[in-house]
Amino acid sequence: MNKEFFKLGIIGNPLKHSISPLIQKAALDSANLSGSYEKFEISENDIEKQIKYFIKNNYTGFNITIPYKIDIIKYLDEIDDEAAKIGAVNTVKINKNGKLKGFNTDIFGFVNSIPEEHQNIKNATMLGCGGAALAVVFGLDSLGCKNIRIGARNHDKAADFINALKDKTGMTFSVSSLDDINSLENTDILINATPLGTLGENENKMPVNKNIFENSNKDTYIFDLVYNPEETLLIKTARDFGFNYTNGLNMLILQGAKAFEIWTKIYPDIYKMKNAYKKH
Ligand code: NAP
Repeated sequence: MNKEFFKLGIIGNPLKHSISPLIQKAALDSANLSGSYEKFEISENDIEKQIKYFIKNNYTGFNITIPYKIDIIKYLDEIDDEAAKIGAVNTVKINKNGKLKGFNTDIFGFVNSIPEEHQNIKNATMLGCGGAALAVVFGLDSLGCKNIRIGARNHDKAADFINALKDKTGMTFSVSSLDDINSLENTDILINATPLGTLGENENKMPVNKNIFENSNKDTYIFDLVYNPEETLLIKTARDFGFNYTNGLNMLILQGAKAFEIWTKIYPDIYKMKNAYKKH
């Protein structure tokens, strides 16, 4: 019997720095499966053409990243409940009959990066309210969170973000300027969903004042979605003050592992995926 060959890929723009090919190839190796994972940096007008290409050439599935996680939905035949609720799809499975089903594995990646002992979350502070923040909100909702304080530089955008969500979750939201967040009191988890801290122009920038760590007890879990570098200034500061923390690498690996499972029905070895990234 011929062993199945898994043709996989990712669409988005830009894709130059995407590490998905690296971690998905490691996943294929770890599961002892044959396959390929290619990047397709396309313009918005070419999404439909690209999908036809995938179907015609017997692809098993593909990832979708910035900026097409919402645009892709109109091309799908079916959508998983969680992806429908969040309104964004990062993984598509192409069935044998050429039908497309969309999923969102970012929520899985976010939730499962939080150690169990820190998953009892009622009050959260989230910095930033862009695309990644959406998965954070639904992840927090699934953990039973009741209130999210959003730290944002643009309050109008934060208001739009909340308006788009308010009927979809049972949570309450409030908005503060980033500079006005001065305490972690009553905050079970602090999440950085801004690019502040990322290698390049934002490196060595903190999304919040350092003094929030000074007079707080150490119960707040610190989650920086940034994974490049692995130790951002926020993570370093949290560590220096004795807080528990994670960077965004686990989330990135876990969303990829879940996508891989959707395509192949095998959950891959996440340590091998992570090692592939670290070696790179
Ligand atoms: P996005 O859609 O562009 O949203 C970024 C958010 O941060 C927006 O609210 C934006 O505010 C705010 N922001 C940007 N620059 C800022 C600055 N200088 N000061 C204050 N606020 C600022 O980006 P995203 O896709 O949500 O990604 C956010 C971060 O998460 C990135 O670093 C990305 O690499 C990381 N991420 C990690 C994972 C993972 O798996 N670990 C997954 C997705 C994303 P405005 O709206 O005012 O611009």
